[in-house]
Amino acid sequence: MPPVFRFAPSPNGYLHLGHAFSALLNFELARPAGGRLLLRMEDIDPVRSKPEFEAAIHEDLAWLGIAWETPVRRQSEHLDVYRAATDRLARDGLLYPSFESRAEIARLVAAEQARGAWPHDPDGVPLYPGVARSLSPEAVARLRQAGAPTALRLDMVAARRRAGDLGWTEGGQGPDGQSGAVAARPEAWGDVILARKETPTSYHLSVVIDDALQGVTDVVRGRDLFWSTSVHRLLQQLLGLPQPVYRHHQLLRDTAGAKLSKSIHATSLRQLRAEGAMPADIRRLVGLA
Ligand code: GLU
Repeated sequence: MPPVFRFAPSPNGYLHLGHAFSALLNFELARPAGGRLLLRMEDIDPVRSKPEFEAAIHEDLAWLGIAWETPVRRQSEHLDVYRAATDRLARDGLLYPSFESRAEIARLVAAEQARGAWPHDPDGVPLYPGVARSLSPEAVARLRQAGAPTALRLDMVAARRRAGDLGWTEGGQGPDGQSGAVAARPEAWGDVILARKETPTSYHLSVVIDDALQGVTDVVRGRDLFWSTSVHRLLQQLLGLPQPVYRHHQLLRDTAGAKLSKSIHATSLRQLRAEGAMPADIRRLVGLA
């Protein structure tokens, strides 16, 4: 079976040099291996995802000379699949609803911090400080009825117990130079949100389900997602999904050393193209010439 690679951008902005690097790397790893390259739109955020960004992604990738298979999977068209997965995790007793607004969570974190250090996840976000896991069924029903914001969280302790120790083989490098056998540390993320009332999925959930449904064998993506792989391995184990090979690549930095983001207009492929750059210039800029 040929290996299956994918490039999975979120259509909430224009592609920048960092995306070009990731997409070209996937394309160039797939080609000599006789592999397939899929494109996937991670468009579960209905507010930030825009058709014009999706169209621009197609245009920019084609301009770079990248070829991918069609049809392109759009996550927003498969919400029922993700819902079925949360139903299964809920049946297994691994999910619980929480009802705090963002402002309430910020208040709870501040209260914890006033008492002492409060842990942060690998992205620097404070862990969930709430106590929703121990709400009575009556309290849950009352909050639901009152229309409180609802998030479905993974009970990390129970999930960890069920899944046992997990890891993955890193074919690239983690932020601290990790490679080879890496132990997953999903507990570093606390009780992660897997779905919300308005969006019945999350990045973590849809990415593992789609990688499995699309037969992805090789996940090649930025090092900023290295520790997310801990959660992905856990969800794969809980949902009985196969484990792809992971290769996290370096992130391109701007001249000030900051991670490139879609908001930095100057490095968008459109902008560079408008200024006369050719695909070969982009390859040189990202170090793939
Ligand atoms: N959609 C994610 C992003 O644009 C990438 C997901 C992945 O490669 O796992 O950052």
